[in-house]
Amino acid sequence: MSDLIRLLPDSVANQIAAGEVVQRPGSAVKELMENAIDAGSTNIRLIIKDAGKSLIQVIDNGCGMSERDARMSCERHATSKILTANDLLSIRTLGFRGEALASVASVAQVEIRTKRTEDEIGTCLQLEGSEVKTQFPTTTQDGTTISVKNLFFNVPARRNFLKSNQVELRYIIDEFFRIAIANPSISLTFYNNDKLMYQLHPSNLKQRLIALYGTSYNERLVPVVQESNLVVISGFIGKPEFSRKTRGEQYFFTNGRYIRNPYLHHAIENAFHELIPKDAFATYFIFLTVDPGTIDVNIHPSKTEINFQEIKTIYAILHSSIRQAIGKFSISPTLDFETEKSFNIPSLPVNQQVVQPTLKVDPEFNPFEKKVQTQYEMPLSSGESRHNDAWQKLYDPLKNISFKPSDASTSGTLTREVMAELDRAIEDQSSRKMFQVRNRYIVTHIRSGIVIIDQQNAHERIRYDYLMEVLENKSSASQRQLLPQAVTIHPGDAELLKEHYRDLEEFGFEISEFGKDTFLVESIPAGLPSSDIPGLFEKIFEALKLHPDEVKRNRKSLLARSLAKNSSVQRGKMLQPEEISSLVEQLFSCKMPEVTPDGNPVMIIITYEDIGKKIK
Ligand code: ADP
Ligand code: MG
Repeated sequence: MSDLIRLLPDSVANQIAAGEVVQRPGSAVKELMENAIDAGSTNIRLIIKDAGKSLIQVIDNGCGMSERDARMSCERHATSKILTANDLLSIRTLGFRGEALASVASVAQVEIRTKRTEDEIGTCLQLEGSEVKTQFPTTTQDGTTISVKNLFFNVPARRNFLKSNQVELRYIIDEFFRIAIANPSISLTFYNNDKLMYQLHPSNLKQRLIALYGTSYNERLVPVVQESNLVVISGFIGKPEFSRKTRGEQYFFTNGRYIRNPYLHHAIENAFHELIPKDAFATYFIFLTVDPGTIDVNIHPSKTEINFQEIKTIYAILHSSIRQAIGKFSISPTLDFETEKSFNIPSLPVNQQVVQPTLKVDPEFNPFEKKVQTQYEMPLSSGESRHNDAWQKLYDPLKNISFKPSDASTSGTLTREVMAELDRAIEDQSSRKMFQVRNRYIVTHIRSGIVIIDQQNAHERIRYDYLMEVLENKSSASQRQLLPQAVTIHPGDAELLKEHYRDLEEFGFEISEFGKDTFLVESIPAGLPSSDIPGLFEKIFEALKLHPDEVKRNRKSLLARSLAKNSSVQRGKMLQPEEISSLVEQLFSCKMPEVTPDGNPVMIIITYEDIGKKIK
């Protein structure tokens, strides 16, 4: 029997490698742009068509390549960036594995046009699935233009695996943002389907962030600066009160490279502990500069995960520098702080226990203290109730109450008997005792026991029913904004909003497109907070992204749920007696008062029988 083991042909080996390096158009964008940066470019243009599926083109003004280098660049393990294994210990470029171009070229049609300044004439090289089709001299500007067409044309399984253009575009925008933030001094332009998405001029980091996120970031950012002999930390954090509802704006860079590191992420999150609401995420753009010899970037082909030798010490320094930034910001309203004296620590042997440096931070400081009431005022007084006769209705037999077992799948669900009991027992509203405890629960009683209602969940149910009624009766009640509010939205989300704003209008929004990724909001549904419309949109986008199945099946109910959540009275809000009775009244006029639209329990009943068993 003959031997079985063969060496794979290069084209196959490259395709396998491509599986790791190039998972989607976004990863090709990342590799091409990183190469342009490594080539010393000061101006990079990114042009994509169909979310990169038909074209990704990166035009740079970097060092260019010779005729031979252009050919070599698409060979596997071909790199100009390292020579020996030792060089791995001092990597200062983004690339070094020499895999990216070879991988991209194995799964696409690639054209490279490139010219070095010192050369009279440039070269054009065309490849298809790793195979060089042609190479010829050409006139072209200094620098390199790489066009990647029909990504995965020869790997249908992968091509079919790609997500919708909207999703793939989002990945590309994410990569573009990482590069744009890490390289504020480089001029960057981004065209999508001939539409200019971003035009970023050379600037400092803060200006770059403002160019990407809008001028509102001017007042949101607090600088972080900390120098030690082990690590230099710089960048910005978002003020706690501007924390985001989605985990979008969290960026870590090490030596100019975007990285993910859950451990260091924790250092920051922990520094924000107690300062931001539980369901929100801190914003940060943090740059670590360390000796390249103390990190290993070689552990993952996309190089977004790296190992730090002295991670514990870096954790402590990072944590304290964030606390310090927050602390300073709490005393000084201006952003132009002098930096603290740097603390240098002697290099520690690896694994040695580190004591966290002490800091001049007010540990008691808590910006939320001043305004626990994070949301807005909700009209709850009985005067505004739609259901003034609700209590009365409860006298009627339970004809209005329908129980759908599928909806009411939680343990807190009331039985039909208890509802009937509730119904019978509530005889006289005025004599009914109800009160609020811990600014969260409303306690009242019925004939068979004590009822504890969660105010937020209760109001969510009320708001949801109201919004669904608005839809059914096509009777939206809007509150017109005093001034139309222009809201700029992350381009990926802007697409989402365009898809759904007709739906939102049915609830009482009035939204119109107003320039690139900006929308004008003239009205919002009655009862919704008008103070933070961008935050409201974010929550809606989040719901749409988290529940793609429901977007297909039951879009309007999903939107109603999200809006209900965002307009419900919050836990922690003290309610007036009339608000309490109005809330209870409205709740029991809902068809399913016992659960929120998401299926969480709204109330529990402790029967006197149970109490009797426990207290003898
Ligand atoms: P790596 O970046 O890991 O070296 P790549 O496959 O990404 O590997 O690129 C291979 C080589 O091609 C690079 O080392 C570089 O010499 C050359 N190269 C790629 N893109 C460019 C560019 N835009 N400008 C100049 N040289 C480039
Ligand atoms: Mg590279």
